[in-house]
Amino acid sequence: MLHLFKKIEHLNAFLLKARQNQQSIGFVPTMGALHDGHLALIQQAQQENAIVVCSIFVNPTQFNDPEDLAKYPRPVSQDITKLESIGCTCLFLPEADEIYPKNLANVELDLAGLDSRMEGAHRPGHFAGVVQVVHRLLDIVQPDSLYMGQKDFQQFTIIQYMIRTLQLPVRLVRVPIIREDDGLAMSSRNVRLTEDGRIKASQLSSILMDAQDAAKHLALREVEQNALLAIEQAGLELDYLDIVNGDTLTPVDTFDDASNVVACATIRVDGIRLLDNVFLKES
Ligand code: AMP
Repeated sequence: MLHLFKKIEHLNAFLLKARQNQQSIGFVPTMGALHDGHLALIQQAQQENAIVVCSIFVNPTQFNDPEDLAKYPRPVSQDITKLESIGCTCLFLPEADEIYPKNLANVELDLAGLDSRMEGAHRPGHFAGVVQVVHRLLDIVQPDSLYMGQKDFQQFTIIQYMIRTLQLPVRLVRVPIIREDDGLAMSSRNVRLTEDGRIKASQLSSILMDAQDAAKHLALREVEQNALLAIEQAGLELDYLDIVNGDTLTPVDTFDDASNVVACATIRVDGIRLLDNVFLKES
């Protein structure tokens, strides 16, 4: 049975009982419009915890574009059906004033430049909003483990940095990207793609997969040049392709520069920004 809580007070009472019964708590924060990528996070959390809390909160502070916030899909009753179908224990569905009551102090954290490149460069203030909401939600739920997707790689790395820097008592788990049959990384924004846009969008994942294969025998610069050429030939509108150290998000010149190397790309299709990434080297 899915327990639905809109108020922190009621969620707290439920989680207090779970803790008293020594039940571990896994937490999956989302903005809703749930797809199989979100459900994979929840299912991994279910395998590792007695109780799984999924939150749905379209966090206004991480949207730098008011139109993107207004257009963000909010199919709550379908989301509830999906959560019930996989046996999720608990949905936290707060209103904004529950998350951000007046006079609440915000977390002070210098992101040490992790937010200056890639998504951060295109969406000023976005990661400050992400840090604010994830910190607040962790404070409310106090889970044993937090599950986040590799799909938003920069977000994952920044939350990992926040947890380490503030020494928050939570285990962070990275869940691989779940893709559509044609390779397109699942995203709540995909429903806004036109039929043609959808076909175009799926090419990015093929290009990144090819880069992953090429990384086994080519130098990093060649892998990058080939990917950029393929993106151009596919007629994709590229925001950036950055090949970075997977731990620090700083650019790398060769595969010897870091033990984790990740190619992160964002394209625009039908005016929608679509993110994807692959590990080119993983320790
Ligand atoms: P969102 O609702 O977009 O804020 O995403 C909530 C969580 O789901 C984040 O940790 C995302 O990284 C993760 N996520 C979104 N799409 C995918 C996907 N295709 N595969 C795996 N995780 C995903």
